Amino acid sequence: MSRQTGSASSAVPSTAFVDEARRGFTEQFGGEPAGVWTAPGRVNVIGEHTDYNDGFVLPMAIDRACHAAAAPRADRVLRVYAAQLGKTVEVSLDALTGPGSAGDTRPADSPDMSPLADPAVTGWAAYPVGVAWVLQQAGFPVGGADIYLTSTVPVGSGLSSSAALECATALALGGISGFELTTAELARHTQRAENIYAGVPCGPLDQMSSAYGEDGSVLFIDTRSGEVRPQPFDLAAEGAVLLVIDTRVSHAHGENGYADRRAACERAAAFLGVPALRDIALADLPETFAKVAVGLDETTARRVRHVVTENARVQQFVAILNHKDFSLPPLGHRMMQSHASLRDDYEVSAPELDVAVATAVAAGAHGARMTGGGFGGSAIALVDTGLLDAVQDAVRAAFAEHGYPEPQFFPAVASAGARRTA
Ligand code: ADP
Ligand code: MG
Repeated sequence: MSRQTGSASSAVPSTAFVDEARRGFTEQFGGEPAGVWTAPGRVNVIGEHTDYNDGFVLPMAIDRACHAAAAPRADRVLRVYAAQLGKTVEVSLDALTGPGSAGDTRPADSPDMSPLADPAVTGWAAYPVGVAWVLQQAGFPVGGADIYLTSTVPVGSGLSSSAALECATALALGGISGFELTTAELARHTQRAENIYAGVPCGPLDQMSSAYGEDGSVLFIDTRSGEVRPQPFDLAAEGAVLLVIDTRVSHAHGENGYADRRAACERAAAFLGVPALRDIALADLPETFAKVAVGLDETTARRVRHVVTENARVQQFVAILNHKDFSLPPLGHRMMQSHASLRDDYEVSAPELDVAVATAVAAGAHGARMTGGGFGGSAIALVDTGLLDAVQDAVRAAFAEHGYPEPQFFPAVASAGARRTA
C-alpha cells in the first residue's frame, strides 16, 4: 500500500513536538536531554470492550503522541514534569520498593492485576511513577532520571493519552538506564502500571496499540494469544478519511461503569463455564442468551450478546479489508452495528456520542461509532474526503443545537508505534 507522505496529514509525527520537548526539558531542568522517546495515542476502529474478554480488537496508533525528553541523574531520584499540567512529581526510586512502602510481593509476571492497596503516588503522577515501579519490580535496572513529558493526545477523550504517556515513559527510562524492552514487554508492563499502580482496570488494548502501532496499518490483535497482525489500511487510496470527533465530554465519570461491565462479563463467563466470553461462538448465541437471561438476568445476557457479536464484527471487518477490491460501505455498516450494540446492549455510549454518530451518517459518512471505553470521549466516522466539511459542519451544528460543548475534529492517520525520535 502507498504511504501517505508529504501531505498535511502525514503519518510522520511533526518534529516540531520533538523539538518542543527538548526545549522544554532544558527550560525545566537545565542541560540537554539524552534523547526523546515518543509514543502514540490510538483509535480503536472496531472491537470495543472485547479486550478484557480475550477477544479481538482492531486499533491503530494515531499521529497524536506523548513525547518524553529525558536525561539520567547521578542519584536515585525520578523527577517527572508534565507540561500540559505544569506539575512535577519527584520520588526516590528506592522508596518505591522497600518493605513498608508501596511494595508488592507479587512476581512481575503474576496474572493478578488488582490495584496496590496503597500506591505511594496518586493522580496523574501515578502513571509515570507506576511505570518506573513496575519496571523495577520486573528486574529492569531503572536509574534516576529527569523526564519532561508533553503530549498532543487529548486527555480523557478515549484516545489513550494514558497509554501514550506510559509507553513514552517506559522507553525513556530504558533508553537512559541502558535496558531495552521488547514490544511485548513494553505493552505488558505499561498495562500493569496502569492496572496495579494507577488502579485503572483497563485491558491490553491501549498499551498494545501504542507499542505495536505501524505507519499506514490497523492492528488485528487477538488479545488471548497476544498475536498482532498489522493490516494495511490505506483510506487515502479510497478517497476517504477516518475522522475523529472528540465530544470533549470526559469519560472519567464512567469509571464505575467500566468496572461494572468487566465484572458482568466475568460473572457470565463463570456461569457459562468458559474461561472468557471469547469462547462463545456466534452460532451458539441464541441459546447462550436465553441461558444467561434465565440463570443470571437479561441485562447480563445483553452484555454477553455485545461481546460475542462484536468479536464477530472485528473478524468480518478484517475479512472485508482482506479483499483486494474492498469498498467502504460494508465497513461503515459494521461500525454502525458496533455502535448500536454498545449503545443498546452494552449501554456504554453517551448522548453526545449518539448525536455525533447519527449526524455524521446523516451527513453522508459511510459509518460511525464511539471509540474507546465510552461514557463520553470520542467517536470516529468513515467519511469520503469530499464530504469532510459537510460532516464536520453538520456535527458542529447538531452539538450547538443540543447545547453540547463544541466538538473537536481531526483525521486519524495510522502511525508508527512507540519509539525513539531524537
Ligand atoms: P485517556 O487515556 O482516554 O485519555 P484516561 O482516563 O485513561 O483517559 O487517562 C487520562 C489520565 O492520564 C489523566 O487524567 C492524567 O492523569 C493522565 N495523563 C494523560 N496524559 C497526560 C499528560 N499529558 N500529562 C499528565 N497526565 C496525563
Ligand atoms: Mg487511558
